[in-house]
Amino acid sequence: HISKLPQVGTTIFTEMSALANKHDAINLSQGFPNFKSDKKLMEYVTQAMHSGYNQYAPMAGNMELRQAIANKFQSLYNSSYQTDTEITVTAGATQAIFTIISAFVKLEDEVIIFRPAYDCYEPAITLHGGKTVSVQLEAPNYLVNWDDVEAKISSKTKMIIINTPHNPTGTLWTKSDMLKLQELTKNTNIIVLSDEVYEHIIFDDEKHQSVCLFSELKMRSFITASFGKTFHNTGWKVGYCCAPEVLMKEFKKVHQFNVFSVNHPMQKGLADYMQTPSHYLELSAFYQQKRDLFLKLIKDSKFKVKPSKGTYFQIVDFSNITDESDVDFAKRLTVDYKLASIPLSGFNENNRDDSVLRFCFAKTDETLEKAAKILCSL
Ligand code: PMP
Ligand code: GLN
Repeated sequence: HISKLPQVGTTIFTEMSALANKHDAINLSQGFPNFKSDKKLMEYVTQAMHSGYNQYAPMAGNMELRQAIANKFQSLYNSSYQTDTEITVTAGATQAIFTIISAFVKLEDEVIIFRPAYDCYEPAITLHGGKTVSVQLEAPNYLVNWDDVEAKISSKTKMIIINTPHNPTGTLWTKSDMLKLQELTKNTNIIVLSDEVYEHIIFDDEKHQSVCLFSELKMRSFITASFGKTFHNTGWKVGYCCAPEVLMKEFKKVHQFNVFSVNHPMQKGLADYMQTPSHYLELSAFYQQKRDLFLKLIKDSKFKVKPSKGTYFQIVDFSNITDESDVDFAKRLTVDYKLASIPLSGFNENNRDDSVLRFCFAKTDETLEKAAKILCSL
């Protein structure tokens, strides 16, 4: 057995995007915008290259960018993170997540995740000899059953991974969820990995419940974030993580040998762009307009829909349309109808299939209109 991950194939995002390309389908599968990011941001990056930001960045990241991140936490959440010791810029949130797991999860450690779950958590846990313990979030509301969480916490629980706003369901954790998590982890050594990559994409005037707002939770938590989501350039692969110094110290031990540092001109450009907070503060309104348009356009379709509360994803229940598996239906929709989506079983334990597809609405209005026409024809 040479494989350390015998059960793992190619991610569903890669598969569905490849199928979309092959069949020239509208691609609402993998989560990325099909419009350009701000010209000003690109100019900042170009300027950074011309003014010499072309050698290794400091291991923890460009200092101006770390400062801009710290300022954001201060102004949005009244929460302080030290630039020298508590913030690290990473090659996207994916590298932050992998590195956090790598730095802490040992053989036989248990890590609790909430299903449906983003797909990069479990393989990293497995690679480090850990055991994934799943807590199922049930349709249609995907609320956390805290009794279930409590029952699954054991002396072996090393880490709990949470994600709000939640990919793929678009649900938000409430303040009471966060207080419950804080209470359950109090007086334990459990580390919380809080995947907050969609923190700036929240609808209907809801508030993002960051772990940093809860002092006891903050002490045991990593926050991971992604500029790809926030500034419409997923291909740049720049993100960051924050944590108290004792935790970040361990993170950096791995990070320095994993990537050492992240591409420098992008970091400098992002630092300059972050000086104008409206660049991220206006994102919720921007995406709420897209969510509302998409929902309005598919209102008369046969799909059962609960509006997404955050992220740029909308899930839909297709049980009124077909008995096919979600994978078969997603493939048929791509090949025969030229519209690609993500089947939710890819996020579930044992590929549990609830007849749900995920659509990404980070697309031009024109693309959403074309997609909706197809959905309404089913
Ligand atoms: N976590 C979640 C929940 C995500 O949706 C994504 C990206 N789709 C990531 C992490 C990874 O972010 P990045 O692209 O910055 O690596
Ligand atoms: N996060 C993106 C999504 O949920 C995919 C990123 C990837 O392809 N790894 O669609």
